[in-house]
Amino acid sequence: MKLAILDRDGVINHDSDAFIKSPDEWVALPGSLEAIARLSRAGWRVVIASNQSGIARGLFSMETLNAIHAKLRKELAQAGGSIDAIFTCPHGPGDDCSCRKPRAGMLLDIGRRYDIDLQNVPAVGDSLRDLQAASEAGCAPWLVMTGNGQKTWDKGDLPAGTQVGESLAAIVDVWLQEA
Ligand SMILES: [Mg+2]
Ligand SMILES: [Zn+2]
Repeated sequence: MKLAILDRDGVINHDSDAFIKSPDEWVALPGSLEAIARLSRAGWRVVIASNQSGIARGLFSMETLNAIHAKLRKELAQAGGSIDAIFTCPHGPGDDCSCRKPRAGMLLDIGRRYDIDLQNVPAVGDSLRDLQAASEAGCAPWLVMTGNGQKTWDKGDLPAGTQVGESLAAIVDVWLQEA
């Protein structure tokens, strides 16, 4: 089984410093849904692992988060793709949970759910904490230059072995060439 783990904001959709708080604010990045659809057609399973501290901050409810994900899934289906599962951390930075990236909890949960060795599983993110969680979980970290990606790249100090792509579409190109 081929599995890919994706961060959501800044990887699949435009991010906002003010959080994505409603379905209207969720807008796909150019080419991202088509890229996921190409993975789906090639038999990959695609899972999202996303920090959503806006829940803990009281900015939106779990119901709204579900509505945002319903929009994501609908637009993705129209592009011919699907997401197998969406894992989210609803906690805040002060909650000391094990799921909020840079901790590896969500990714380890995904590994258990699919009963898969994470070593060859790529995990894409635009922020350092995504790459740190990926590295900690034993995944292959991929930095995408969309969202916070350029800032993350400029700051440097990326986990060993981090690979880089301009966009999710460019990264998927590499994966499908390797496969
Ligand atoms: Mg992000
Ligand atoms: Zn958490």
